[in-house]
Amino acid sequence: MSVRLQIWLIFLVPVAIVGALVGLGWTIPIPHLGRDYVLKVMLPDAGSPVDLPEVLGPPDRSRPLVVIDPGHGGKDPGASGGGYREKDVVLGLAKALRDELLAEGGIRVALTRDDDTFLVLEERPEIARRLDADLFISIHADSAGEKGEIGGASIYTLSSKASSEAAARFAERENSADAQLNGVRLNGQSEEVSNILVELSQRRVQETSDEFAGLITREGGGSLRFHPQARRSATLAVLRAPDVPAVLYESGFITNREDAERLVSQEGREEFAETMGRAIRIFFARQSNQ
Ligand code: ZN
Repeated sequence: MSVRLQIWLIFLVPVAIVGALVGLGWTIPIPHLGRDYVLKVMLPDAGSPVDLPEVLGPPDRSRPLVVIDPGHGGKDPGASGGGYREKDVVLGLAKALRDELLAEGGIRVALTRDDDTFLVLEERPEIARRLDADLFISIHADSAGEKGEIGGASIYTLSSKASSEAAARFAERENSADAQLNGVRLNGQSEEVSNILVELSQRRVQETSDEFAGLITREGGGSLRFHPQARRSATLAVLRAPDVPAVLYESGFITNREDAERLVSQEGREEFAETMGRAIRIFFARQSNQ
């Protein structure tokens, strides 16, 4: 074998091996010779969540179903203050309510998340719709920045017009959860759904939601601490399902020490769960009589 051929082989053999590997589709971590790495991220289609949560409680589809939605989660912590994060506080409350409802029996329950998972805002009411839920309760906790004295729970229902400036600001903040994270506003789609049937359904659902909100303040009068303006309405994406009665329960202010300590305590959670559970049972009893 000539020297020239040997030199050529020294060059050509590695090139041939690399070429064969690339040709076979194998990846080789050699700069410039390897393939380009492509990260594929699966995004859920708008309005069609990948997984529906498990429905707990009696395996009887005629039983009413409440979907409990702990706000925020994962990369979206929600409000924070005093060492508390909204996403943790509201998950604790949601689980307490789930346990209470299951212990009392007769009602089916599903949670939009039961761990620290991120959910796109619009997925949440969509989960309730796809499960054919009878009631949707989104649980949040508020923050008042430096104003630590502001406290108390409030209940939001959907309105076509934000009822006050505060409600509008709140709507902006809660609705911006997706926009900030994905750079795209995902919550405008339901606005396109504007035919008269949807409007009629929405109006009826709004009345039913208001009735449920009234039950929460009535039943919680002796046990829960409400904000002086406890009943509010706002344009909130999470309440926009046109066929499932829905409320957003702001459980209190985590910037208020008294509120925060109560919301994360065993007694505070049980008090919330008992009160909300009672309101839910009365609500379903009334619905079944109509
Ligand atoms: Zn929130």
